[in-house]
Amino acid sequence: MTTPIDPQKLDRLAEVAVRVGLNLQPGQELILTAPVTALPLVRGIAEHAYRAGAALVTPILSDDQVTLARYRHGTETAFDSAAGWLFDGMAEAYDRGAARLAVSGGDPMLLSGEDPDKVARANKAMALAYTPARERITRFATNWTIVAWPDLAWARLVSPDLDDEAAQHRLAEAIFAASRVDHEDPVAAWAAHNAELRRRARWLDDHAFAALHFTGPGTDLTVGLAEGHHWLAGATVAQNGITCNPNIPTEEVFTTPHRLRVEGTVRATKPLSHQGTLIENIAVRFEGGRITEAHATRGEAVLRKVLDTDEGARRLGEVALVPHASPISDSGLLFYNTLFDENAASHIALGQCYATCFHGGDTMPADEVARRGGNASAIHIDWMIGSGQIDIDGITQEGSRVPVMRQGAWA
Ligand code: ZN
Ligand code: ZN
Repeated sequence: MTTPIDPQKLDRLAEVAVRVGLNLQPGQELILTAPVTALPLVRGIAEHAYRAGAALVTPILSDDQVTLARYRHGTETAFDSAAGWLFDGMAEAYDRGAARLAVSGGDPMLLSGEDPDKVARANKAMALAYTPARERITRFATNWTIVAWPDLAWARLVSPDLDDEAAQHRLAEAIFAASRVDHEDPVAAWAAHNAELRRRARWLDDHAFAALHFTGPGTDLTVGLAEGHHWLAGATVAQNGITCNPNIPTEEVFTTPHRLRVEGTVRATKPLSHQGTLIENIAVRFEGGRITEAHATRGEAVLRKVLDTDEGARRLGEVALVPHASPISDSGLLFYNTLFDENAASHIALGQCYATCFHGGDTMPADEVARRGGNASAIHIDWMIGSGQIDIDGITQEGSRVPVMRQGAWA
């Protein structure tokens, strides 16, 4: 191979990010965050954004080595600070109509050797400072999307058996397949995929289940659903009227659980990569919607700190159904990246709910979201509980059971 990353597919990924992910409109500004290693993709996105009529593309780049320098040489007392001014500015830009694109990448294990206390403090400060921007993103105040860059450090983690070039090639091809840019007409492929996801969401909406019951090895979990919940999938109409695809790739159909009505035990089916640390074999117990027991064989200290972020951090803000067979799980790879792993397996998320997962949620005040069972928190962390061994039943308002998934496949 001449280059590990096919330039034609990379150009198509940039085009899909702008045309499908964002559906960027003429005159819109774009705020773009990315790891510095992703510059070839950032440049492609800028080109397609300006061709689509962007008023201004503002890239904000991060660097793994700069992040590490803080942990190695930064002042001990400085780990409770975050760039709140930047996130306030992002929030203001969204209010003025700017779209948002995040390029995911970087080393998922970057902070795994650093002091967990510093990591937890920095994450908490970041989560709190990010609130104004996150609040606008979770309620879809503007059109936004996330796409992935096949970062070399990430590729090494996914394929430790391969040399650098082969590992990066394999990750790039997996990203391209999952993002449907290996199709002749990726924009048409996305239209067909969105239609299929919408059909699933409509079926679940028609049943208006009171709860979902997950069973499998180590899992016997009843997830009550919020009152007036609405299933979302694929494309979403943002509050500015623009239809965007917030995740590239996406395979999930998701809604809002009831924060007080989750009972039982659940075991994670994949490791969770959280802000540079790996949390493995999570097992928790829920009582009255709240996690009362939590264990992990690795990263348990980080998990406990995450759960102590605030009152809502121990409760669920999302439940998502993903078939065990999808382009992402078919790749057979463990990505250590939520954007990919969460789209390879059914999952739940701790923390903040999406108000858009209610009928009429766009304009619903926060106290009404809470009254219907929606959760609030400074965190939103997805973790995977689905596999080819999980069965899911829907429990109707009358208490009868309807098979939803069997052995990880739609029933
Ligand atoms: Zn999800
Ligand atoms: Zn989520």
